[in-house]
Amino acid sequence: MSDSFNWTCPYCKTKTTIFKRTNFSSNIHLYASSSKFASIGLVTSFIVCPNPDCRELVIEAGLYHATEDTNYHRLDGVSGEPILKWTLKPESSAMTLPDYIPKQISEDYYEACRILSLSPKASATLARRCLQGMIRDFWGVVKGSLSEEIKGLQGKIDVSTWDSIDSIRSIGNIGAHMEKDVNTIIDIDEDEAGILIKLLEELFQDWYISKHDKDERHQNIIALSAAKKSLKADGKIP
Ligand SMILES: [Zn+2]
Repeated sequence: MSDSFNWTCPYCKTKTTIFKRTNFSSNIHLYASSSKFASIGLVTSFIVCPNPDCRELVIEAGLYHATEDTNYHRLDGVSGEPILKWTLKPESSAMTLPDYIPKQISEDYYEACRILSLSPKASATLARRCLQGMIRDFWGVVKGSLSEEIKGLQGKIDVSTWDSIDSIRSIGNIGAHMEKDVNTIIDIDEDEAGILIKLLEELFQDWYISKHDKDERHQNIIALSAAKKSLKADGKIP
């Protein structure tokens, strides 16, 4: 077995190499079960992100077919691809949102991601409330319904972003209930709810994160100019 593997941290998105001796621990629970999977092994793993600014802990589990040592008639390991696999931490594949995004908005987003498979209906309800929260917070557009608020964005935001937000109206049940209160639960499937989450991620990036990064770049230029000016005033540079 190789002593290292390539890995992307789900928290900081750094692509890295995990050395099993330092940032990894794994264990197997073998069971000669009478279940339909027969002899199985559950492999649980801890992975620690080596990025010094992150150092997050990731916990994974995989269910495998167990292998048998025929001489001793006992299970001795696992083989092949996992029958099932889970990431136990982080709980979902949600993107990590920066602290400057309002708490209510990021909580709705995380919750929508967490329950996407379990309950697409509840996930979409939270995602719609999150979208409304973003439109109200970032653009100051507050009207009666989400539908009206989306219309209110036209002309304020770039055409392709508006088209992608507007396109969710064309998704069957989301579109059909756009006029209703965001807390109304609508019956949709996981794929449809997943599109709403993708849209939220694009908007976090395009609105909050891009603006924050731009402000930061401009602040840097202002700080550099001010430093240069004070050096000049002190006569340290001509
Ligand atoms: Zn990381």
